[in-house]
Amino acid sequence: MDLAAQASLDMTQIDFDRYARVALCHQPTPIEPMVRLGELLGGPNLFIKRDDCTGLATGGNKTRKLEFLVGEALSQNADMLVTQGAVQSNHVRQTAAAACRVGLKCHALLERRVPHRGGDYEQTGNVFLDRIFRATLEFRPSGLDMNAEGEAVTERLRAKGHRPYFIPGGGSNATGALGYASCAQEILLQCKSLEVSFQWLVMATGSTGTQAGLVAGFHALTRNLPVMGISVRQPRKRQVVAVHDLTRKTLEKLKAPTIPVSKIVVDDGYVGEGYGIPAESTLEAIALTAQYEGILLDPVYSGKGMAGLIGLIRQGFFKPSDNVLFLHTGGSSALFAYENAIMTDQA
Ligand SMILES: *Cc1c(COP(=O)(O)O)cnc(C)c1O
Repeated sequence: MDLAAQASLDMTQIDFDRYARVALCHQPTPIEPMVRLGELLGGPNLFIKRDDCTGLATGGNKTRKLEFLVGEALSQNADMLVTQGAVQSNHVRQTAAAACRVGLKCHALLERRVPHRGGDYEQTGNVFLDRIFRATLEFRPSGLDMNAEGEAVTERLRAKGHRPYFIPGGGSNATGALGYASCAQEILLQCKSLEVSFQWLVMATGSTGTQAGLVAGFHALTRNLPVMGISVRQPRKRQVVAVHDLTRKTLEKLKAPTIPVSKIVVDDGYVGEGYGIPAESTLEAIALTAQYEGILLDPVYSGKGMAGLIGLIRQGFFKPSDNVLFLHTGGSSALFAYENAIMTDQA
């Protein structure tokens, strides 16, 4: 037996197939070194987990959550998925594609959350893809409680005789977060087979399911791989409370011991003016990752996440000997809706 197989036997594993689940993802997604970007920045050894390659309709992190959410929808005999997001939501695009894959309808509420976007913002990028999947779309002004709106629409559809299943924004509840608890296990198994260990995992955090799922997964598997969430939207304190809340619920679902709030790490230094508005540092991160690694990030999430990684390296946060894993959560379809912002501001 080779070392990797021996080591993987040593790790207690969670059987995620005990939860209702449908296969939507290419997994495991690769972990690759980022040699040129690492040399440019002169910091720790950089690696990237390619969850932009989950495979469904240009990929992204929501597909892992949807394996469990759609599994639950089918187990409840739903005939329709209902969800909500910002206009350029990657989550809505992946939900619309997942619905097509399993033969469900999809209805989505799109919040006009981002101010002052150009005319094609509501036509191109993810919205265009939503339409290819024949999702039915309703727009909303910004500032509403969008999950409450979504639940009200779900009830309206139920009253009309549909069998809707409501998925909260970003797929971020304990069911969806199982997708990232399962990803935590996948990363630990890859560490064994690649014979590498990571000192930090860095990622963009928004609706919290990705970070909460990862933290819950590592904790349930009793592995301490610290996760640094780079906020794309909220101040640090609010994001920490929100991530912790969902981490606890996910641990309950996993029947694992709970976790103190001190284990939730968030940096809010890369939000810029707000959700969906790329900062200078976002544009720099997109440019450097494209030019040094040939990898596309996005202007709303992974560009801010990478800006966080770059900023932390420049601050000397990591040791030169550290191995740091960046989770690429996808989103490049939204680049097309931001062409003007990216091409005019880019150095
Ligand atoms: C939704 C999303 C995130 C954030 O994940 P959450 O689970 O909502 O925190 C990060 N990157 C991309 C590309 C996304 O679409």
